[in-house]
Amino acid sequence: MTFDYDDQNIFAKILRGEIPNQTVYESDHALAFKDINPQATHHVLVIPKGPYMSLDHFAIEAPTEEQAGFMAAVGEVCKLLELDSGFRAICNTRIHGVQEVPHFHMHIVGGEQLGQMLP
Ligand code: 5GP
Repeated sequence: MTFDYDDQNIFAKILRGEIPNQTVYESDHALAFKDINPQATHHVLVIPKGPYMSLDHFAIEAPTEEQAGFMAAVGEVCKLLELDSGFRAICNTRIHGVQEVPHFHMHIVGGEQLGQMLP
């Protein structure tokens, strides 16, 4: 499949500084910020700074350096949030995955006992 990135999505606007966010962590390759509608005690979104619309787009087309930078940011967020008792990482993708924002993001959800992964 081909991946068409739309730079008018809300996370692209956050990256450009057009919309404020509550930053948790930032590096050359990634930004992590609090979800505006948290589903648990901790709910952080980690996004790459590059223009990727989804997990598969990022995994297939992002250079190794960007992928490593993104995963390093995920690790830093886990450390900062002290998620020793565990957490859930979610990457909703396109229509079947019910992805709302078409800029690749990983939800890091935790800080309390979570329920079933799928209802
Ligand atoms: P998705 O369904 O695409 O995986 O999740 C998108 C997430 O982005 C949702 O959890 C939603 O609450 C969050 N979100 C949408 N708009 C904004 C925003 O303007 N700021 C922040 N911080 N989060 C947002």
